[in-house]
Amino acid sequence: MGYTHYWYRKNKEVEVKSYEEIGSKFRALLPHFEQLGVNLAGGNGKGEPEISQTLISFNGLEDCGHPSTHELGIAWPSKNANGVAKPWLEDVASGSWHAGATIDKRACSGDCSHETCWFPRVVPKDHSCYFDSHPTQENGNGWQFNFCKTAYKPYDIAVTAFLIITKHILKKEIWISSDGETQHWADGRILCQKVLGFGVEFELDRRDSNK
Ligand SMILES: [Zn+2]
Repeated sequence: MGYTHYWYRKNKEVEVKSYEEIGSKFRALLPHFEQLGVNLAGGNGKGEPEISQTLISFNGLEDCGHPSTHELGIAWPSKNANGVAKPWLEDVASGSWHAGATIDKRACSGDCSHETCWFPRVVPKDHSCYFDSHPTQENGNGWQFNFCKTAYKPYDIAVTAFLIITKHILKKEIWISSDGETQHWADGRILCQKVLGFGVEFELDRRDSNK
């Protein structure tokens, strides 16, 4: 339960060259996340994001130092939400859903980590994070499904930007959907466009779009 992004990989294994391209493009965004006030960490919310030739794994920073004065529960973005809150200045809650607040900007209540964004080059055999499934067919046909629940914490912008990069490189070999709408991906698209020269054209895949 909670605001989530979903992806389906066509193959258990991403080609070395494509994987390195994904990693280097994501690495190029790291200083920009800092400028936006997004603290990225390793998959467990501590240390540095891992971007290697075999694994890309990151999360928000658990010990972020942000105040817990605005308790959000498990937050969900409001209809036109975007951006990253300035944690000491803004109360971003505009309403509620059954598990917490609806918020107008990405924010945390004292812990910027949520679920790990985990994207190995080769999916380990029978790994529980990935499983055989296809977005538009009953049979998975070897497509690998995974997801990342961000609860619209600040690192959500990094998860969307990362997935926009994977789409640019892997094209029809990855299928991406989200609890969010196009506008919730605008920050990631604009950042990718500004730094990497692509991204504004990105669209979420839809079950009825027959892609
Ligand atoms: Zn935080």
